[in-house]
Amino acid sequence: MTKTDRPDLLVVGAGLFGLTIADHAAQRGHRVLVLERRSHIGGNCYDELNEETGITKHVFGSHLFHTPNEKVWDYLNRFTDFAPYEHRVFANSGGQAYSFPMNLSLIAQVYGRYYSPEEAKALIASEASEIDTDSASNLEEKAISLIGRKLYEQFVRGYTQKQWNTDPKELDAEIITRLPVRYDFDNRYFTDRYQGQPAQGYTAMFERMADHPNIEIRYGVDYISERDRGLYEGVPTVYTGPLDEYFGYELGRLPWRTVDFEDEVLDVDDFQGTAVMNYNDADVPFTRILEHQHYDPQAAQNKVSGKTIISREYSRFAEPGDEVYYPINSDSSRELAAAYKAKARDEEAKGVFFGGRLGNYAYLDMWMAVNSAIHLYEQSIDPLIRERSSKRRRLTASERTDDRTRELIRLINVLMEVLEEAGEPLRRDEARRRTARRAGVSTSGMGFVITSAQAEGLVKDSLRSGLVSIA
Ligand SMILES: Cc1cc2nc3c(=O)[nH]c(=O)nc-3n(C[C@H](O)[C@H](O)[C@H](O)COP(=O)(O)OP(=O)(O)OC[C@H]3O[C@@H](n4cnc5c(N)ncnc54)[C@H](O)[C@@H]3O)c2cc1C
Repeated sequence: MTKTDRPDLLVVGAGLFGLTIADHAAQRGHRVLVLERRSHIGGNCYDELNEETGITKHVFGSHLFHTPNEKVWDYLNRFTDFAPYEHRVFANSGGQAYSFPMNLSLIAQVYGRYYSPEEAKALIASEASEIDTDSASNLEEKAISLIGRKLYEQFVRGYTQKQWNTDPKELDAEIITRLPVRYDFDNRYFTDRYQGQPAQGYTAMFERMADHPNIEIRYGVDYISERDRGLYEGVPTVYTGPLDEYFGYELGRLPWRTVDFEDEVLDVDDFQGTAVMNYNDADVPFTRILEHQHYDPQAAQNKVSGKTIISREYSRFAEPGDEVYYPINSDSSRELAAAYKAKARDEEAKGVFFGGRLGNYAYLDMWMAVNSAIHLYEQSIDPLIRERSSKRRRLTASERTDDRTRELIRLINVLMEVLEEAGEPLRRDEARRRTARRAGVSTSGMGFVITSAQAEGLVKDSLRSGLVSIA
């Protein structure tokens, strides 16, 4: 029996969303139990050291931190320093590496000369005029209507085909809203004000977030089976698992794309000279190659000379049992997600709140996961925990109770509060001292207190006699 067997808050999932909630609750003095069905902390942002190379590998795909939001930046800086890092991606087509996202450098490479910003705008507008965006009936037409056929065929068609295992002519136009072209030479992948990589890695950052006496994480525990056994009923819960799984897929499965990672350790010091290289041609089976050393702040000191580790990414539709990565944006999936979200809102009345990328069926950048978790905690979770705990185990005296019993009940209620806040049994003299101070009495008459179980035992007889009741 631990202090979190009956926690103030249950959090399902030790990812970024769940741990932001857990930390906030713990800081407010609430006891939090986190259930995580994997064997590790950090959800999809988890990273680990590859012993052979001395490089930290991002196990679920490259994670680069960026945010425009100062509050989120300051919050995460409590748990880690960030090493300066600006992400850059290159696009490999026909054996040439192009500057990416599409910018003046790529336009010069493709069209064979330098175009000024105004010339490049006119060029792309003229190339894109072949199709009117509003009349585009599939992804291919929409892409051509945005950037023209030449850039579409070289950089979008093959890559999209591999991402979706589907001819872009068969994909919904709405999957893409825009294909950004930058009319300058800026090839930073993210342009947010705050960017960087946690100096000791993501996993170390998560371990610090969870390092609080009020937080317990249990690994290898699936919430759904615990719930189905009737555990944690009535405990305020934040659920960051898959939305459809919570409801037993009763309306059908929400569709996702997954990614298969093929890792390889190579006997070269540097394989590709950059963190991420996209492979845009259809005849290369993978979509991109990650080279982990280039976004690992510790690689400079720890990397084994003459070694590197890369991951090739292969994209496909997720099957039951796969890790899910990217939600699919189509009319039918949006409708299904909306139906599940309506059911999720009904669960709020039972104290269960949904959050995170899986619980919302949404792609969330890391900063968005933190931001929405803080918001959910402040708006809904903290008020709920306070309300529940103020109702818990509060004894009231009946009309027939004499003054002495009334005073005893008051002291027991104060004792309960003290013990709840402490989160663990207190030594007899400490419990007595704190209760007396809070109740405004001397400690001499308070030899009865020590644990909440003993205190409950003390009032059991009074309850049976009808002299007191629980409000
Ligand atoms: C390939 C890829 C690359 C990305 N790169 C970036 C990037 O560069 N920058 C960026 O800002 N964002 C990036 N992201 C987004 C980032 O991964 C998310 O913002 C983040 O993971 C969200 O955290 P979360 O807690 O919502 O979800 P998760 O990290 O998925 O955590 C949810 C946790 O809940 C657990 N869980 C689920 N169901 C149960 C259950 N029934 N019982 C117990 N535990 C359960 C899971 O095991 C998991 O650990 C990327 C995402 C992907 C897919």
